[in-house]
Amino acid sequence: MARGKQKEESQKKNLEKKAKEAKASAPRAVQKFKLTCNVCKATMNSMGDLKTHYEAKHSKVAFNEADYAQTE
Ligand SMILES: [Zn+2]
Repeated sequence: MARGKQKEESQKKNLEKKAKEAKASAPRAVQKFKLTCNVCKATMNSMGDLKTHYEAKHSKVAFNEADYAQTE
């Protein structure tokens, strides 16, 4: 019986370890999609935000989505 319990304990520890590792690597995954405005260096979270930003702040500058294409 003691052996079975030990196995259970180590499985639990493994799960906790995995959860910790997942938490540690999460911030890197979050910042994969960030766009910086070429005109004023403002940071946008998405292409849609950037387009809206262009219309609001740089209406005289043509918005070219290709300039901000994400390389994966
Ligand atoms: Zn801008």
